[in-house]
Amino acid sequence: MRRKLAAGNWKMNGLSGDLGVLADLAAAHGEGDVDILICPPHTLVNRAAQTVADGKIRIGGQDCHAAETGAHTGDVSAAMLVDAGAKWVIVGHSERRTDHDESDSDVRNKARAAIDAGLGVIVCVGESLAQREAANTLDIIGGQLSGSIPDLVTGQNLVVAYEPIWAIGTGKVPTTDEIGEVHDFIRARLERRFGAGVARSVRLLYGGSVKAGNAADIFAVSNVDGALVGGASLTAADFSPIVTAL
Ligand code: PGA
Repeated sequence: MRRKLAAGNWKMNGLSGDLGVLADLAAAHGEGDVDILICPPHTLVNRAAQTVADGKIRIGGQDCHAAETGAHTGDVSAAMLVDAGAKWVIVGHSERRTDHDESDSDVRNKARAAIDAGLGVIVCVGESLAQREAANTLDIIGGQLSGSIPDLVTGQNLVVAYEPIWAIGTGKVPTTDEIGEVHDFIRARLERRFGAGVARSVRLLYGGSVKAGNAADIFAVSNVDGALVGGASLTAADFSPIVTAL
């Protein structure tokens, strides 16, 4: 009942000359039953959305401000993303939490603003290596889930991405048992808070060094509904086999 989702997070990569990736992906996966979302930098959201208009690929932002308008130099509101053609936005990525000191409540406020503006949100959670080694992973994830997800979510406008910080961009990946443990836990926590109907509809993505070579094993884990992919989403040659593996 949950549609599979392959989401690409381009981070601070991509110039207008790189938008050809979208046409290549559309050509390769236009007929497939996997949802594809690409989150380019804000500068490319509008052009990317125009490039994929009428197709099945969706475009998202990588962050938004919690306020609707105002004196926030350099920031982008959820309504601006909608205006530019975005359908989704990533909030609470660990790089935002670290580089910009974003707390769970900051993330929750951003998610609320995004949903109010009509966007779907991908809320990211994940433990550091020290937290995993101290056997605190589930406590950390549980705290991030309750702190970062606003009350008004539905099964359709929320996606949760589990991204262990130590796996992002490192080539290190948790075992499939470790991924399954966290994803089962997230599903159970969502059910406790939002009820079975919502919890069963929310897609749970794994993120952190997903590549063509490990995607099939990760996607075979229960409660993994897709991936949030960084480095391997920058070219169709790398991303396409991940979409195919779903
Ligand atoms: P990576 O990044 O695939 O390059 O590890 C994933 C992410 O940060 O979303």
